[in-house]
Amino acid sequence: MHAILELAKKKTVIFDGAMGTMLMASGLPSGQSPELWNLEKPAVVAEIHGRYYDAGSDVVHTNTFGGNPLKLDGAGLVGKAEIINREAVRIAKSVCPRNKFVAGDIGPSGKFFKPLGDATPESVQEAFREQAEALKSGGADLISIETMFSLQEALAAVRASKAAGDILVIASMTYNRTKKGFFTMMGESVKQCASALEEAGADVIGTNCTLGSKDMVDLTGELRAATKKPILVQPNAGKPLTRKGITTYEQSATDFAEDGKRIKDAGADMIGGCCGTTAEFIRELAKTLSS
Ligand SMILES: [Zn+2]
Repeated sequence: MHAILELAKKKTVIFDGAMGTMLMASGLPSGQSPELWNLEKPAVVAEIHGRYYDAGSDVVHTNTFGGNPLKLDGAGLVGKAEIINREAVRIAKSVCPRNKFVAGDIGPSGKFFKPLGDATPESVQEAFREQAEALKSGGADLISIETMFSLQEALAAVRASKAAGDILVIASMTYNRTKKGFFTMMGESVKQCASALEEAGADVIGTNCTLGSKDMVDLTGELRAATKKPILVQPNAGKPLTRKGITTYEQSATDFAEDGKRIKDAGADMIGGCCGTTAEFIRELAKTLSS
């Protein structure tokens, strides 16, 4: 059994919080590709990972959320996918304590499938395969696919990651809350996603982003009912507030951590944070869950 699944049998596995939020606080200009800093400012990226490990994270995500070749091409980083992903793993590994983990992060391709856009499942899967192979050959302990709002795209990412070799794969979907329950942007239900992702080979079923920790308590219950696989839950720091074009999150770290306890009780095996969460949130979460 993978060491992270062994750990999950003993305790709630703590993931990290947002990378983008921390990079912007470290001076990343808005509009610049965060992945470029794996090449240009590796020390800043390493320091952020280090702060999460110090705060109590058992796992951190590599700075490769937008590191698939389709997204990088759009950011003017043509042909850089392999070096960016390998470097990202090297940077995280350089500060990873013994018995802790580095998850290779895979985010959305940024493309829509036909007829909404021009992407095909094959072209997207090929892009994810290139990224997954670079993450795996760079030494990632597992792959974490996240913020997927289309099941079809998430399945392409799971299949691509499994094709990259023998590696544990987490697949997290992003849901919206409606009067009828939780659904992806494409209208897929929690049950539908969990079953299909499992069938495609995902080892851990997750959810992240968009919803805050309060909504994710209920969502965790639905996920728990939908799968027997371990569950990863990564809420945002409450609801975003946009004022004069600047987005902030007003939830306190202690409030987030209290909800973390309820998320655990609802059935989550692994918990981290998404947009707006910082090392302080993870520190409070780790403290609350261990007490
Ligand atoms: Zn997010």
